[in-house]
Amino acid sequence: MTEFQIPETLEIPHTLAAGPGPGNTDARVLARFAASGVADHMHPAVLQGMVECKEMLREVWGTKNTYTFGVAGTGWSGLDMMFTAVLPGDKVVIFANGTFSGIDALSVRMKAATREELAADSLNPQAASVTVIEVPHGQSVTGDMVEKALAEHKPRFAAMAHWETGSGRVNDIQGFSDACEKHGAMGLIDAVSSLGVGDFRIDDYPGVHGWASCPQKGICALPLTYAPVSFTDHYIAELKAHGAPTFCHHPILEARHWGIIDGKDVEKGTYHRTHSAYAVCSFHEALRLTLQEGVAQRAASYEYHEAALKQAVAMMGCDVTSNMTSLVVLNLPGDLAGREMELVQSARAKNFGIWPTLSEPVQVRIGILNQLTEAAIREIVERFGAEMAAMGADIDMPAIMASLDDHYRPAVAAE
Ligand SMILES: *Cc1c(COP(=O)(O)O)cnc(C)c1O
Repeated sequence: MTEFQIPETLEIPHTLAAGPGPGNTDARVLARFAASGVADHMHPAVLQGMVECKEMLREVWGTKNTYTFGVAGTGWSGLDMMFTAVLPGDKVVIFANGTFSGIDALSVRMKAATREELAADSLNPQAASVTVIEVPHGQSVTGDMVEKALAEHKPRFAAMAHWETGSGRVNDIQGFSDACEKHGAMGLIDAVSSLGVGDFRIDDYPGVHGWASCPQKGICALPLTYAPVSFTDHYIAELKAHGAPTFCHHPILEARHWGIIDGKDVEKGTYHRTHSAYAVCSFHEALRLTLQEGVAQRAASYEYHEAALKQAVAMMGCDVTSNMTSLVVLNLPGDLAGREMELVQSARAKNFGIWPTLSEPVQVRIGILNQLTEAAIREIVERFGAEMAAMGADIDMPAIMASLDDHYRPAVAAE
Protein backbone atom coordinates (compact mmCIF):
# COMPACT_ATOMS: atom_id res chain seq x y z
CA MET A 1 0.00 0.00 0.00
CA THR A 2 1.31 3.44 -0.91
CA GLU A 3 1.21 6.02 1.79
CA PHE A 4 -1.24 8.90 1.34
CA GLN A 5 0.56 12.13 0.43
CA ILE A 6 -0.93 15.31 1.81
CA PRO A 7 -1.12 17.83 -1.07
CA GLU A 8 0.81 21.08 -0.99
CA THR A 9 -0.99 24.25 0.16
CA LEU A 10 -3.55 25.18 -2.47
CA GLU A 11 -2.58 28.21 -4.55
CA ILE A 12 -5.27 29.75 -6.74
CA PRO A 13 -4.07 32.37 -9.24
CA HIS A 14 -5.59 35.77 -9.68
CA THR A 15 -7.61 35.96 -12.89
CA LEU A 16 -9.30 38.76 -14.77
CA ALA A 17 -12.93 37.74 -14.24
CA ALA A 18 -14.35 38.88 -17.57
CA GLY A 19 -17.13 36.34 -18.02
CA PRO A 20 -20.86 36.10 -17.31
CA GLY A 21 -20.14 35.58 -13.59
CA PRO A 22 -18.73 35.30 -11.03
CA GLY A 23 -17.76 38.92 -11.26
CA ASN A 24 -14.77 40.61 -9.75
CA THR A 25 -15.43 40.43 -5.99
CA ASP A 26 -14.99 43.94 -4.69
CA ALA A 27 -11.88 44.65 -2.59
CA ARG A 28 -14.10 46.18 0.10
CA VAL A 29 -16.07 42.92 0.32
CA LEU A 30 -12.91 40.80 0.58
CA ALA A 31 -11.55 43.11 3.28
CA ARG A 32 -14.69 42.74 5.42
CA PHE A 33 -14.59 38.96 4.94
CA ALA A 34 -11.04 38.85 6.28
CA ALA A 35 -11.77 41.34 9.08
CA SER A 36 -14.75 39.51 10.59
CA GLY A 37 -14.27 37.91 14.01
CA VAL A 38 -15.09 34.25 14.64
CA ALA A 39 -18.41 35.12 16.29
CA ASP A 40 -21.03 32.36 16.09
CA HIS A 41 -24.33 32.47 14.27
CA MET A 42 -26.32 33.69 17.30
CA HIS A 43 -23.93 36.48 18.30
CA PRO A 44 -25.84 39.80 18.58
CA ALA A 45 -23.56 41.48 16.00
CA VAL A 46 -24.21 38.71 13.48
CA LEU A 47 -27.98 38.83 14.07
CA GLN A 48 -27.94 42.62 13.81
CA GLY A 49 -25.93 42.37 10.59
CA MET A 50 -28.51 39.96 9.14
CA VAL A 51 -31.37 42.32 10.03
CA GLU A 52 -29.49 45.19 8.35
CA CYS A 53 -28.79 43.03 5.28
CA LYS A 54 -32.52 42.26 5.06
CA GLU A 55 -33.34 45.97 5.22
CA MET A 56 -30.69 46.86 2.63
CA LEU A 57 -31.91 44.05 0.35
CA ARG A 58 -35.40 45.59 0.33
CA GLU A 59 -33.81 48.82 -0.93
CA VAL A 60 -31.71 47.05 -3.55
CA TRP A 61 -34.68 45.01 -4.85
CA GLY A 62 -37.03 48.02 -4.61
CA THR A 63 -39.66 46.29 -2.51
CA LYS A 64 -41.78 46.42 0.61
CA ASN A 65 -42.02 42.60 0.64
CA THR A 66 -41.42 41.52 4.25
CA TYR A 67 -40.13 38.14 3.05
CA THR A 68 -36.90 39.53 1.56
CA PHE A 69 -33.63 37.96 2.74
CA GLY A 70 -30.63 35.88 1.64
CA VAL A 71 -30.49 32.12 1.10
CA ALA A 72 -27.17 30.56 2.07
CA GLY A 73 -25.46 29.36 -1.11
CA THR A 74 -25.46 30.37 -4.77
CA GLY A 75 -28.03 31.41 -7.35
CA TRP A 76 -29.43 27.88 -7.60
CA SER A 77 -30.01 27.85 -3.83
CA GLY A 78 -32.21 30.95 -4.11
CA LEU A 79 -33.96 29.52 -7.16
CA ASP A 80 -34.53 26.19 -5.40
CA MET A 81 -36.20 28.10 -2.58
CA MET A 82 -38.29 30.13 -5.03
CA PHE A 83 -39.52 26.95 -6.73
CA THR A 84 -40.36 25.20 -3.43
CA ALA A 85 -43.97 26.33 -3.80
CA VAL A 86 -44.26 24.17 -6.94
CA LEU A 87 -45.75 20.82 -5.91
CA PRO A 88 -46.24 17.55 -7.83
CA GLY A 89 -48.94 17.95 -10.47
CA ASP A 90 -48.92 21.77 -10.38
CA LYS A 91 -49.53 23.41 -13.72
CA VAL A 92 -46.55 25.57 -14.70
CA VAL A 93 -45.58 27.43 -17.88
CA ILE A 94 -41.88 28.25 -18.10
CA PHE A 95 -40.00 30.08 -20.84
CA ALA A 96 -36.52 28.88 -21.81
CA ASN A 97 -34.21 30.93 -24.06
CA GLY A 98 -30.79 29.72 -22.96
CA THR A 99 -28.76 27.56 -20.58
CA PHE A 100 -29.98 28.97 -17.29
CA SER A 101 -33.70 29.19 -17.99
CA GLY A 102 -33.29 25.68 -19.40
CA ILE A 103 -32.00 24.50 -16.01
CA ASP A 104 -34.81 26.43 -14.30
CA ALA A 105 -37.20 24.41 -16.45
CA LEU A 106 -35.51 21.17 -15.33
CA SER A 107 -35.80 22.28 -11.71
CA VAL A 108 -39.51 23.00 -12.19
CA ARG A 109 -40.09 19.65 -13.94
CA MET A 110 -38.40 17.85 -11.02
CA LYS A 111 -40.70 19.56 -8.52
CA ALA A 112 -43.93 19.32 -10.53
CA ALA A 113 -43.40 15.70 -11.64
CA THR A 114 -45.66 13.08 -10.12
CA ARG A 115 -44.01 10.18 -8.29
CA GLU A 116 -44.40 8.03 -11.40
CA GLU A 117 -43.02 10.69 -13.73
CA LEU A 118 -40.00 11.21 -11.46
CA ALA A 119 -39.27 7.49 -11.25
CA ALA A 120 -39.58 7.10 -15.02
CA ASP A 121 -36.64 9.48 -15.66
CA SER A 122 -35.47 10.85 -12.35
CA LEU A 123 -32.72 13.13 -13.63
CA ASN A 124 -34.79 14.60 -16.46
CA PRO A 125 -38.46 13.98 -15.66
CA GLN A 126 -41.10 14.81 -18.24
CA ALA A 127 -43.83 16.34 -16.10
CA ALA A 128 -47.12 16.47 -17.99
CA SER A 129 -48.25 19.47 -15.94
CA VAL A 130 -45.28 21.60 -17.04
CA THR A 131 -45.21 23.38 -20.41
CA VAL A 132 -41.78 24.58 -21.47
CA ILE A 133 -41.93 27.26 -24.15
CA GLU A 134 -38.61 26.99 -26.00
CA VAL A 135 -37.43 30.32 -27.42
CA PRO A 136 -34.43 30.06 -29.79
CA HIS A 137 -30.96 30.98 -28.43
CA GLY A 138 -30.21 34.63 -29.15
CA GLN A 139 -33.86 35.76 -28.94
CA SER A 140 -35.70 37.39 -26.05
CA VAL A 141 -38.93 36.21 -24.45
CA THR A 142 -41.57 38.78 -25.45
CA GLY A 143 -44.74 39.84 -23.68
CA ASP A 144 -46.78 38.47 -26.59
CA MET A 145 -45.26 35.00 -26.14
CA VAL A 146 -46.14 35.04 -22.45
CA GLU A 147 -49.66 36.38 -23.04
CA LYS A 148 -50.36 33.69 -25.64
CA ALA A 149 -49.05 30.80 -23.53
CA LEU A 150 -50.79 31.86 -20.32
CA ALA A 151 -54.09 32.45 -22.13
CA GLU A 152 -53.87 28.94 -23.55
CA HIS A 153 -52.65 26.99 -20.50
CA LYS A 154 -53.97 29.00 -17.52
CA PRO A 155 -51.20 27.72 -15.21
CA ARG A 156 -50.87 28.13 -11.44
CA PHE A 157 -47.27 29.38 -11.92
CA ALA A 158 -45.37 31.07 -14.75
CA ALA A 159 -41.57 31.34 -14.69
CA MET A 160 -38.92 33.12 -16.73
CA ALA A 161 -35.36 34.40 -16.45
CA HIS A 162 -35.24 38.19 -16.32
CA TRP A 163 -31.84 38.30 -18.06
CA GLU A 164 -30.80 34.98 -19.66
CA THR A 165 -27.04 34.86 -19.15
CA GLY A 166 -26.54 31.88 -21.47
CA SER A 167 -27.45 33.89 -24.56
CA GLY A 168 -27.11 37.38 -23.07
CA ARG A 169 -30.74 38.31 -23.70
CA VAL A 170 -33.03 40.60 -21.70
CA ASN A 171 -36.59 39.23 -21.46
CA ASP A 172 -39.77 41.31 -21.23
CA ILE A 173 -40.50 41.52 -17.53
CA GLN A 174 -43.32 44.06 -17.94
CA GLY A 175 -45.14 41.87 -20.46
CA PHE A 176 -44.57 38.84 -18.23
CA SER A 177 -45.97 40.58 -15.15
CA ASP A 178 -48.99 41.93 -17.06
CA ALA A 179 -49.85 38.50 -18.47
CA CYS A 180 -49.47 36.87 -15.04
CA GLU A 181 -51.86 39.40 -13.50
CA LYS A 182 -54.38 39.04 -16.31
CA HIS A 183 -54.45 35.24 -16.21
CA GLY A 184 -54.09 34.76 -12.46
CA ALA A 185 -50.74 32.97 -12.61
CA MET A 186 -48.16 33.45 -9.86
CA GLY A 187 -45.07 34.79 -11.63
CA LEU A 188 -41.63 33.55 -10.56
CA ILE A 189 -38.49 35.29 -11.84
CA ASP A 190 -34.87 34.18 -12.06
CA ALA A 191 -33.18 37.56 -11.53
CA VAL A 192 -29.74 36.02 -10.94
CA SER A 193 -27.95 38.20 -13.48
CA SER A 194 -30.07 41.37 -13.42
CA LEU A 195 -30.07 42.33 -9.72
CA GLY A 196 -27.50 45.05 -9.11
CA VAL A 197 -26.92 45.52 -12.84
CA GLY A 198 -30.27 46.70 -14.22
CA ASP A 199 -32.33 49.57 -12.84
CA PHE A 200 -35.63 48.00 -11.80
CA ARG A 201 -37.88 47.83 -8.74
CA ILE A 202 -39.67 44.57 -8.18
CA ASP A 203 -42.72 46.26 -6.65
CA ASP A 204 -43.38 47.71 -10.13
CA TYR A 205 -44.24 44.16 -11.31
CA PRO A 206 -47.28 43.03 -9.31
CA GLY A 207 -47.75 39.87 -11.38
CA VAL A 208 -44.46 38.50 -10.03
CA HIS A 209 -44.63 36.89 -6.57
CA GLY A 210 -41.22 35.26 -6.22
CA TRP A 211 -37.76 36.57 -7.13
CA ALA A 212 -34.34 34.94 -6.77
CA SER A 213 -30.82 36.24 -7.45
CA CYS A 214 -27.21 35.39 -6.51
CA PRO A 215 -24.32 36.94 -4.56
CA GLN A 216 -21.56 36.99 -7.18
CA LYS A 217 -22.90 38.80 -10.22
CA GLY A 218 -24.42 42.29 -9.90
CA ILE A 219 -24.07 42.31 -6.11
CA CYS A 220 -20.26 41.72 -6.34
CA ALA A 221 -20.19 39.69 -3.12
CA LEU A 222 -18.35 36.42 -2.64
CA PRO A 223 -19.88 33.39 -4.33
CA LEU A 224 -21.41 30.90 -1.90
CA THR A 225 -22.56 33.52 0.56
CA TYR A 226 -26.15 34.71 0.12
CA ALA A 227 -28.61 34.50 -2.74
CA PRO A 228 -31.10 37.37 -2.39
CA VAL A 229 -34.76 36.35 -2.59
CA SER A 230 -38.05 38.18 -2.19
CA PHE A 231 -41.62 36.88 -1.89
CA THR A 232 -44.96 38.67 -1.78
CA ASP A 233 -47.41 38.02 1.04
CA HIS A 234 -49.57 36.21 -1.53
CA TYR A 235 -46.74 33.75 -2.27
CA ILE A 236 -46.20 33.18 1.46
CA ALA A 237 -49.93 32.64 2.09
CA GLU A 238 -50.11 30.10 -0.76
CA LEU A 239 -47.00 28.38 0.56
CA LYS A 240 -48.45 28.21 4.04
CA ALA A 241 -51.72 26.80 2.72
CA HIS A 242 -50.16 24.10 0.51
CA GLY A 243 -46.78 23.46 2.14
CA ALA A 244 -43.39 22.58 0.71
CA PRO A 245 -41.38 19.39 1.35
CA THR A 246 -38.17 21.02 2.59
CA PHE A 247 -36.80 22.32 5.87
CA CYS A 248 -33.57 23.86 4.59
CA HIS A 249 -35.01 25.91 1.71
CA HIS A 250 -38.43 26.65 3.21
CA PRO A 251 -38.98 30.41 2.72
CA ILE A 252 -40.99 30.83 5.93
CA LEU A 253 -38.53 28.83 8.03
CA GLU A 254 -35.31 30.26 6.60
CA ALA A 255 -36.69 33.82 7.01
CA ARG A 256 -36.77 33.34 10.79
CA HIS A 257 -33.00 33.66 11.11
CA TRP A 258 -33.26 37.03 9.30
CA GLY A 259 -35.74 38.30 11.88
CA ILE A 260 -38.98 37.62 9.98
CA ILE A 261 -41.46 35.64 12.07
CA ASP A 262 -45.18 35.13 11.35
CA GLY A 263 -45.07 37.69 8.56
CA LYS A 264 -43.52 40.41 10.70
CA ASP A 265 -40.12 41.91 11.32
CA VAL A 266 -38.78 41.14 14.79
CA GLU A 267 -35.75 42.64 16.47
CA LYS A 268 -33.51 39.62 16.03
CA GLY A 269 -33.67 36.30 14.33
CA THR A 270 -34.00 32.79 15.72
CA TYR A 271 -31.98 29.73 14.72
CA HIS A 272 -32.55 28.14 11.34
CA ARG A 273 -29.04 27.10 10.36
CA THR A 274 -25.44 27.96 11.24
CA HIS A 275 -24.67 31.22 9.47
CA SER A 276 -21.10 32.40 9.02
CA ALA A 277 -19.96 35.70 10.50
CA TYR A 278 -17.57 36.02 7.51
CA ALA A 279 -20.37 35.56 5.02
CA VAL A 280 -22.66 38.02 6.79
CA CYS A 281 -19.90 40.64 7.15
CA SER A 282 -18.85 40.48 3.49
CA PHE A 283 -22.42 40.37 2.16
CA HIS A 284 -23.31 43.37 4.33
CA GLU A 285 -20.44 45.35 2.78
CA ALA A 286 -21.50 44.39 -0.76
CA LEU A 287 -24.99 45.74 -0.09
CA ARG A 288 -23.63 48.93 1.47
CA LEU A 289 -21.46 49.43 -1.59
CA THR A 290 -24.40 48.94 -3.97
CA LEU A 291 -26.60 51.39 -2.04
CA GLN A 292 -23.84 53.97 -1.61
CA GLU A 293 -23.26 54.06 -5.34
CA GLY A 294 -26.99 53.65 -6.06
CA VAL A 295 -28.76 51.03 -8.17
CA ALA A 296 -29.65 53.55 -10.90
CA GLN A 297 -26.10 54.92 -11.00
CA ARG A 298 -24.60 51.44 -11.29
CA ALA A 299 -27.06 50.55 -14.03
CA ALA A 300 -26.07 53.68 -15.98
CA SER A 301 -22.41 52.84 -15.50
CA TYR A 302 -22.94 49.33 -16.90
CA GLU A 303 -24.66 50.81 -19.97
CA TYR A 304 -21.83 53.25 -20.53
CA HIS A 305 -19.01 50.71 -20.26
CA GLU A 306 -20.81 47.96 -22.14
CA ALA A 307 -21.32 50.37 -25.06
CA ALA A 308 -17.54 50.91 -25.18
CA LEU A 309 -16.79 47.18 -25.18
CA LYS A 310 -19.48 46.45 -27.77
CA GLN A 311 -18.14 49.08 -30.13
CA ALA A 312 -14.58 47.78 -29.74
CA VAL A 313 -15.45 44.16 -30.54
CA ALA A 314 -17.62 45.30 -33.46
CA MET A 315 -14.55 47.09 -34.86
CA MET A 316 -12.75 43.75 -34.60
CA GLY A 317 -15.40 42.34 -36.94
CA CYS A 318 -17.35 40.44 -34.27
CA ASP A 319 -21.13 40.15 -34.46
CA VAL A 320 -22.77 40.92 -31.09
CA THR A 321 -26.08 39.11 -30.50
CA SER A 322 -26.73 40.02 -26.83
CA ASN A 323 -28.52 43.00 -25.27
CA MET A 324 -27.57 42.64 -21.58
CA THR A 325 -25.47 45.49 -20.15
CA SER A 326 -23.07 43.33 -18.13
CA LEU A 327 -22.27 40.85 -20.90
CA VAL A 328 -21.38 40.81 -24.59
CA VAL A 329 -22.15 37.59 -26.48
CA LEU A 330 -20.61 37.47 -29.93
CA ASN A 331 -19.78 35.47 -33.03
CA LEU A 332 -16.23 35.72 -34.34
CA PRO A 333 -15.79 37.22 -37.84
CA GLY A 334 -16.18 34.95 -40.88
CA ASP A 335 -12.62 33.64 -41.22
CA LEU A 336 -12.44 32.74 -37.50
CA ALA A 337 -15.98 31.36 -37.26
CA GLY A 338 -16.04 27.95 -35.61
CA ARG A 339 -12.86 28.65 -33.59
CA GLU A 340 -14.69 30.26 -30.62
CA MET A 341 -13.79 27.47 -28.19
CA GLU A 342 -10.12 27.57 -29.21
CA LEU A 343 -9.97 31.33 -28.60
CA VAL A 344 -11.67 31.07 -25.21
CA GLN A 345 -9.37 28.25 -24.10
CA SER A 346 -6.28 30.19 -25.13
CA ALA A 347 -7.50 33.27 -23.19
CA ARG A 348 -8.37 31.20 -20.11
CA ALA A 349 -4.94 29.57 -20.14
CA LYS A 350 -3.56 33.10 -19.57
CA ASN A 351 -5.99 33.76 -16.68
CA PHE A 352 -8.12 36.02 -18.87
CA GLY A 353 -11.44 34.53 -17.76
CA ILE A 354 -13.83 34.90 -20.71
CA TRP A 355 -16.36 32.15 -21.48
CA PRO A 356 -17.95 30.24 -24.32
CA THR A 357 -21.72 29.70 -24.38
CA LEU A 358 -22.63 26.49 -22.54
CA SER A 359 -25.28 25.38 -25.00
CA GLU A 360 -25.37 25.50 -28.81
CA PRO A 361 -24.44 27.53 -30.79
CA VAL A 362 -20.90 28.10 -29.53
CA GLN A 363 -20.32 31.83 -29.05
CA VAL A 364 -17.89 33.92 -26.99
CA ARG A 365 -19.09 35.68 -23.82
CA ILE A 366 -17.20 38.66 -22.37
CA GLY A 367 -18.51 40.15 -19.14
CA ILE A 368 -17.80 43.35 -17.23
CA LEU A 369 -19.26 42.59 -13.78
CA ASN A 370 -17.77 45.12 -11.36
CA GLN A 371 -15.25 46.16 -14.06
CA LEU A 372 -16.73 49.63 -14.29
CA THR A 373 -13.66 51.69 -15.09
CA GLU A 374 -12.04 52.84 -18.31
CA ALA A 375 -8.83 51.04 -17.33
CA ALA A 376 -10.64 47.73 -16.85
CA ILE A 377 -12.46 48.00 -20.20
CA ARG A 378 -9.21 48.93 -21.98
CA GLU A 379 -7.49 45.88 -20.50
CA ILE A 380 -10.33 43.58 -21.57
CA VAL A 381 -10.32 45.01 -25.10
CA GLU A 382 -6.52 44.77 -25.38
CA ARG A 383 -6.41 41.19 -24.15
CA PHE A 384 -9.29 40.09 -26.35
CA GLY A 385 -7.75 41.84 -29.35
CA ALA A 386 -4.44 40.08 -28.66
CA GLU A 387 -6.20 36.71 -28.66
CA MET A 388 -7.86 37.47 -31.99
CA ALA A 389 -4.61 38.71 -33.49
CA ALA A 390 -2.84 35.55 -32.32
CA MET A 391 -5.43 33.54 -34.28
CA GLY A 392 -4.62 35.54 -37.42
CA ALA A 393 -7.38 38.16 -37.34
CA ASP A 394 -6.54 41.31 -39.23
CA ILE A 395 -7.49 44.00 -36.70
CA ASP A 396 -6.40 47.59 -36.30
CA MET A 397 -5.71 47.83 -32.57
CA PRO A 398 -4.53 51.48 -32.60
CA ALA A 399 -7.82 52.50 -34.26
CA ILE A 400 -9.81 50.43 -31.78
CA MET A 401 -8.00 51.93 -28.79
CA ALA A 402 -8.52 55.40 -30.30
CA SER A 403 -12.26 54.69 -30.47
CA LEU A 404 -12.14 53.96 -26.73
CA ASP A 405 -10.43 57.33 -26.22
CA ASP A 406 -13.34 58.95 -28.10
CA HIS A 407 -15.88 57.09 -26.00
CA TYR A 408 -14.30 58.05 -22.70
CA ARG A 409 -13.18 61.58 -23.65
CA PRO A 410 -15.60 62.86 -26.32
CA ALA A 411 -14.90 66.54 -25.52
CA VAL A 412 -11.14 66.13 -25.95
CA ALA A 413 -11.59 64.22 -29.19
CA ALA A 414 -13.73 67.00 -30.64
CA GLU A 415 -11.03 69.66 -30.21
C1 LIG B 1 -25.50 32.39 -13.01
C2 LIG B 1 -26.95 32.08 -13.20
C3 LIG B 1 -27.58 31.04 -12.50
C4 LIG B 1 -26.82 30.11 -11.57
O1 LIG B 1 -26.27 30.77 -10.48
P1 LIG B 1 -25.19 30.05 -9.49
O2 LIG B 1 -24.77 31.16 -8.60
O3 LIG B 1 -24.11 29.50 -10.35
O4 LIG B 1 -25.90 28.99 -8.74
C5 LIG B 1 -28.94 30.86 -12.69
N1 LIG B 1 -29.65 31.67 -13.50
C6 LIG B 1 -29.08 32.69 -14.21
C7 LIG B 1 -29.92 33.55 -15.10
C8 LIG B 1 -27.71 32.93 -14.06
O5 LIG B 1 -27.14 33.92 -14.75
